[in-house]
Amino acid sequence: MSLLDGKLGIVFGVANKRSIAWAIAQAWHQAGAKLAFTYQGERLKENVEELAGTFGSDTLILPCDVTRDDDIAHVFAQLSQKFGKIHLLLHSVAFAPKDALEGEFVNTKREAFRVAHDVSAYSLVALARGAAPLMTEGGSIVAMTYYGSEKVVPHYNVMGVAKAALEASARYLAYDLGPRRIRVNCISAGPVNTLAARGISGFSEMLKHYEAHAPLRRNVLPEELGATGTFLASDGAAAITGQVIYVDCGYQIMGM
Ligand code: NAP
Repeated sequence: MSLLDGKLGIVFGVANKRSIAWAIAQAWHQAGAKLAFTYQGERLKENVEELAGTFGSDTLILPCDVTRDDDIAHVFAQLSQKFGKIHLLLHSVAFAPKDALEGEFVNTKREAFRVAHDVSAYSLVALARGAAPLMTEGGSIVAMTYYGSEKVVPHYNVMGVAKAALEASARYLAYDLGPRRIRVNCISAGPVNTLAARGISGFSEMLKHYEAHAPLRRNVLPEELGATGTFLASDGAAAITGQVIYVDCGYQIMGM
């Protein structure tokens, strides 16, 4: 028997095959979970259909811009119809306007701050609220975060502040949803070369810096994020909630 046999889940944030969401979805699928997917906008529809289609032609794939309450309501109504219940939710979504991810944080515009927080942090609250009524047998919600939430990482700027809000939201959600046996955790990943990461100015230096300074002297692999995602989704993590788990080759422990 596989770790996630019989589990039903939904994945937010696959853009292409390099997406962290895709690495975790593959791991969840291999562990026996049946998954639904969402995509933002027609631009990504084909990509997601091509990837998710490899899990079976009946895979549920729905549009969802996480800033739109109507989209979110539609996703959970469809899920309720198709699955009746769910056990797993992956939040792997973030965005900040490009000009907010270069230059000085002090110049962050009100609108850039608002958008970054809406897409990257508030969305976890909205998705958890939509998912909770379907998690009738308990559940595991996993959100992707980054170390720039707690330390200054040059250029990460407003995204670091949004990730701090995401992590704090995960703790408050864990408290609210704990009595329903719904766990909420964050995976704090080291840098991975994805579409979103390439929007951060100086990203390739970040990869080199981690390789030189992390205790394991290398960068994290997508499949390692998949394995941690599977652990957090599994009963092995039944007593873990509200946590930020660092999957960064140990970089987070370093002081210098
Ligand atoms: P990615 O493949 O570009 O995934 C980001 C996803 O967020 C995309 O599918 C993107 O869709 C989606 N998204 C943006 N705005 C959205 C909206 N309004 N509604 C719905 N979806 C929206 O990049 P990734 O690196 O895998 O990022 C996944 C998560 O991991 C993010 O939370 C990121 O902060 C986190 N993370 C990444 C790293 C890293 O180094 N890559 C490290 C730590 C944490 P569009 O392409 O349409 O915008």
